[in-house]
Amino acid sequence: MGDKNNIKAVSLDGSQGEGGGQILRTSLALSMLTGRPLRIENIRARRAKPGLMRQHLVCVQAAAAISGAEVEGAELGSQQLAFTPGPVKAGDYRFAISSAGSCTLVLQTVLPPLLFADAPSRIELSGGTHNPMAPPFHFLERAWLPLLRRMGGEVELSLRRHGFYPAGGGEVTAHVVPQSGGLRPLHLSERGELREAYAESLVAGVPRSVAQRELEVLGRVLSWSGEQLRTPAMRQNEGPGNVLMATLGFEHVTEVFTEFGERGRSAEEVAQRLLAEMRPYRDSTAAVGPHLCDQLALLVALAGEGHYTSSEITEHSRTNFRVIQQFLPVSFRTEALEGAWKVSVAATMPGSG
Ligand code: AMP
Repeated sequence: MGDKNNIKAVSLDGSQGEGGGQILRTSLALSMLTGRPLRIENIRARRAKPGLMRQHLVCVQAAAAISGAEVEGAELGSQQLAFTPGPVKAGDYRFAISSAGSCTLVLQTVLPPLLFADAPSRIELSGGTHNPMAPPFHFLERAWLPLLRRMGGEVELSLRRHGFYPAGGGEVTAHVVPQSGGLRPLHLSERGELREAYAESLVAGVPRSVAQRELEVLGRVLSWSGEQLRTPAMRQNEGPGNVLMATLGFEHVTEVFTEFGERGRSAEEVAQRLLAEMRPYRDSTAAVGPHLCDQLALLVALAGEGHYTSSEITEHSRTNFRVIQQFLPVSFRTEALEGAWKVSVAATMPGSG
């Protein structure tokens, strides 16, 4: 194997736990950050269409572009990959995901290594910006990014054009300015007081009545006023697409919940699904919900230690914790508190990991 620098390679089974694309993305990011060559088998074995789909292939290509990696197995449908990274190079990058594959998942693959590069980078991505089963742009911007910034990560994100599944065509730009000293630990036990709550229905190339019906259900069930129920202006040629989002801004954290309109699903059902998605978080005392829980894990581990509370610990989170532990000298611990789970990350003693 390409064990050029005498650095121990990491071999992963992509079918473990959740068995999805996150195992690939997290391990690519960590391979670049640690310089450790990566071997993965059974990529996305637990998904209906296993192996590398277009968006996963772009993650691999993007990772290779920023790190000059030697790669074997980077083909559509491939279930095996060998990735041997070189040093990460800051720069101006442009990555296009030709289908409506998710821009944000590609961004989450390259952003962590570029945060630790020796100069600023600019990344332009085109593809889907609001995809089912991926972090929507607004979730990254409002929920994930502020926590990354609190940890010292200097990143700007901008949405130039929405891209909805399946048409795609969205555009996202990111600016990354590495900071000496890396990331600071995050300690996030409490969400704090609710400061703002609002829902938005994005409709592009879809009748506005769909948005009105969705928001009407949310307003009635949550007792939110008209001012809290919004239909932002959109370019109609960005569609077709409909996304319903609820943003809960607390003193210490903002959470964003998202549901997607699709053919054959009524506006009322979209709203009910969003309410069901929000319920466990609203009923809990946790700082973050299930998606932030799995997406904070890598950042907190890169800081070396920290903790946060979450309303749920999903299989995505557990799998991500295990993958991270294979690369970094940290251990994740979860414990049940009243009304929440606590995730703690601690440095392991040299030799114990
Ligand atoms: P995978 O299924 O392994 O490709 O991973 C999907 C990623 O997308 C995970 O990090 C999920 O937490 C994230 N994700 C999926 N749906 C949402 C959502 N509605 N909001 C935020 N993140 C999401």
